[in-house]
This record gives sequence, structure tokens and C-alpha cells, in this order.
Amino acid sequence: MPENQLFPAVLLFGYPGSGKGTQGVVLGEMPNLLHLAMGDIFRALDKESDLGKEFLSYSTKGLLVPDDFTVRLWKQHVDGLAASGKYDRDYHVLLLDGIPRTPAQVDLLKPLIEVKKIVHLVIENEEALVARLSGRAKKSGRPDDADPDVIRKRIAVYKEETSPVLAGYDAALLANVNADQHPLGVLRDVADVLSQCVSGKI
Ligand code: ADP
Repeated sequence: MPENQLFPAVLLFGYPGSGKGTQGVVLGEMPNLLHLAMGDIFRALDKESDLGKEFLSYSTKGLLVPDDFTVRLWKQHVDGLAASGKYDRDYHVLLLDGIPRTPAQVDLLKPLIEVKKIVHLVIENEEALVARLSGRAKKSGRPDDADPDVIRKRIAVYKEETSPVLAGYDAALLANVNADQHPLGVLRDVADVLSQCVSGKI
């Protein structure tokens, strides 16, 4: 695929509970930004299907789904959005939330996306994350939010498997945003970063 055929993308990074989803949903309302959350794509699978069961077998333990399955499903989803006219690669910048999450996923996505910016939502207080995710468990209805041990496992997996992803990209792409503040403050800071890097598109 020629370079100009790559999907332009901004990556949203941060611990589970750092506010990626909250920010992503709001920012996805901006013209030209299309928010894609990998967790949402997985959760839209039919729970009774083989794929849905496979997803749950990992997510309920706080583990990552295997890389090939993840990126294949992501690509299928994007192709589906393009086919139905909801995604136009010449118009949209993808706001990717929760993918890539391993160095192997970075490699699998390399022939598909052009990373314009990486927004890293930085949290210092990890224990606050456990409280935050447990607190939303009722509303989210997610089994992986209901169990503090699974939440701790997700945090550990983020540290071990996902953090190394950041080091693999050019440091100039990285923007750290303090996520230990009110969501509106986070939104202001993220919008500031994005308005500079995709301003021609917004
Ligand atoms: P959170 O960021 O709160 O952990 P997500 O909704 O992003 O929540 O992900 C929920 C679960 O979905 C993960 O714990 C994992 O099992 C699976 N998942 C999501 N994104 C990926 C990914 N890129 N690679 C592998 N598994 C993923």
C-alpha cells in the first residue's frame, strides 16, 4: 500500500481507568475525528459466538486477547465502517483507544496506519484507578470492572505489555497529558495537543 494510503491516526494511551474512553467519546464528536475503542469492538461481539467467547476468556481474567485476532478484528471493523460510508480515510483521523497494546500489534498495524500523534494520559496514583474502575462497575456492567483482582491484573498487564509500546515510537510524537485532574481539564489539554497536530483536518 503506498504511504498516502495509510490510515492517519492519533493514539490514545493510558492505564485502564485513566479516562481514555471518556475523552475518546467526546473528541470523537469533532468533525474529522473518528473514535475507535478496541474494547468496544470486542464487547460488540455476540457473547455466544466463538469469537465472543474467546474474547471473554481473556478479558474476564484481565489478560490481553492474542495480537493476530485483535488486529484482524480491528481491520475488519474499519473495513466495515469504510464500506458503509462511516469512515473516509481522506477525511477522518482515527482516534485509536486501546490499540496497539503490545509491540507485536505495533508491527501488525504498521502497514495500515500512519501515527500522527500519541496522547499519553499520565496517572501517578495507581490505587485511585482501582477505586475509579470499581466505582463504574455497576454502570459499565463489565465483569472485568467488578473484580478488584482483575483490575489489578489489567494494571499490571498495562505496565508489562503496553508501556513498552510507547518507547517504540519516535519521542517527537509523544504528548504527555496530566490525567490526574478533572476530565474537563484533561479535555482542554488533549484538545490543545490535537488542535496543533490535526488542525488542518479539524
Ligand atoms: P481498559 O482500558 O479499561 O482495560 P478496554 O475496554 O480497552 O478496557 O479493554 C477491555 C479488554 O479488552 C482488555 O482487558 C483486553 O482483554 C481486551 N482488549 C482491548 N484492547 C485490546 C488490545 N489492543 N489487545 C488485546 N486485548 C485487548
